[in-house]
Amino acid sequence: GHVDITCDLLVLGAGPGGYSAAFRSADLGLNTVLVERYSSLGGVCLNVGCIPSKALLHTAQVLEEAQHIGEHGISFAAPQVDLDKLRAHKAGVVGKLTSGLAGMAKARKVQVVQGVGEFASPNHLTVTAGDGSQKVIQFAKAIIAAGSQPVHLPFIPDDPRIVDSTGALELRQIPKRMLIVGGGIIGLEMGTVYSALGARLDVVEMLDGLMQGADRDLVKVWQKRNAPRFDHILLKTKTVAVEAKPEGILVTFEGEQAPKEPQLYDMVLVSVGRTPNGKKIGAEHAGVAVTDRGFIPVDKQMRTNVPHIFAIGDIVGQPMLAHKAVHEGHVAAEAAAGEKSFFDARVIPSVAYTHPEVAWVGLTEEQAKDQGVKVGKAVFPWAASGRAIANGADDGFTKLIFDEATHRVLGGGIVGMGAGDLIGEVCLAVEMGADATDIGKTIHPHPTLCESVGMAAEVFEGHCTDLP
Ligand code: FAD
Repeated sequence: GHVDITCDLLVLGAGPGGYSAAFRSADLGLNTVLVERYSSLGGVCLNVGCIPSKALLHTAQVLEEAQHIGEHGISFAAPQVDLDKLRAHKAGVVGKLTSGLAGMAKARKVQVVQGVGEFASPNHLTVTAGDGSQKVIQFAKAIIAAGSQPVHLPFIPDDPRIVDSTGALELRQIPKRMLIVGGGIIGLEMGTVYSALGARLDVVEMLDGLMQGADRDLVKVWQKRNAPRFDHILLKTKTVAVEAKPEGILVTFEGEQAPKEPQLYDMVLVSVGRTPNGKKIGAEHAGVAVTDRGFIPVDKQMRTNVPHIFAIGDIVGQPMLAHKAVHEGHVAAEAAAGEKSFFDARVIPSVAYTHPEVAWVGLTEEQAKDQGVKVGKAVFPWAASGRAIANGADDGFTKLIFDEATHRVLGGGIVGMGAGDLIGEVCLAVEMGADATDIGKTIHPHPTLCESVGMAAEVFEGHCTDLP
């Protein structure tokens, strides 16, 4: 048949997984084509995920600190919010990064083809542009990086006041009352932003706690600090009916903590998870296996059941995180270029960029309990850290999980200001196989919050001099 473009390696999807794979592949000398349906590169993470949410969370944090600084003897007038300007600021942050990616693609001679891609055979992909025109790309190898999208609940009506994370990031309005359906990281981050801008929050979660995956002791600190934002935290409760009324969105709940009466909201954010795009790319024409739920199974080299086609990122499974996608992208590109790379990371960290931040990596206490593994743990409370007290962050703590026999660190959790940055040290320690002595004898800068990691290791060894 007809072929418009021929390449060594085709990458489908330009999110963090896809662009990382394409750039690595080009750097390794492969003639690389990157197919993306949107005009802007960067996928969910840069356009409607990690980056715009963090831009808004930063604004929220500055706003809240300015309000609390009254206690230090400095007060400001009540904030005035110009949503147009805030949206423009967010768009500016995103634009800087996505145009940077376009430049990096160009510098590497990665050919970007815009349009919706669908496999036509094990070596062909058809790309349909917005104007209906089509291009056929013939490839020797391919990497599928088509990502995921928000789960939509079937009983929820179409109404501009009901949004998913993408809609929430558009900042169309500041609601008085906002419901977050699903108490995971994405919902709670967006809730933090809207709360800082003046919204009262409710959250409803089917399971028995918010921020599943994190140890409860970490979440407890977050919850205590955040209690004032919420009218209701409804656990073990389901949303069973949602009705769009002129005066608001009427929501009916069912379950252990369900309010008896339906509740009225100005805005409802549905953040109940993300679903992979595996069923939308014509994978069957390439012979690539896709699970019922739309995930693409891969081996340690990120190879699908078709040996010359790889898959990476959200589309291959949990955790759906950008840093996992990037790492897998590098592995797949290197394997496609004939290197002996494979995925053998010990840990993939998780961070909720809420206020305070909650971060964890490796084995959690809960997992250790579930698996019946006996572990040692050590906690350094930030109430004993001068810097944390100076920063008004003394409710935080740093926890390390150790192998009882070898004293090697297996994981850790941190709650408090900057926990997402601080957890990086624990990631490195686990990957390097560090033990409590390695960490405790490392000289950390004083006074910092990262000292708390060294202190926690000293607590484990029984000779922390910074605790009573
Ligand atoms: P995606 O980023 O989903 O990219 C897939 C790309 O493929 C998209 O650009 C899509 O348009 C394109 N595509 C799909 N199908 C086709 C097709 N048929 N033809 C052409 N193009 C196609 N992760 C973190 O690590 N840290 C965070 O702080 C964080 N915050 C988040 C906040 C929010 C609100 C959300 C929604 C997500 C957040 N995530 C975060 C998750 C992160 O965004 C994803 O894990 C990451 O984007 C996955 O990368 P990916 O490359 O697998 O896919």
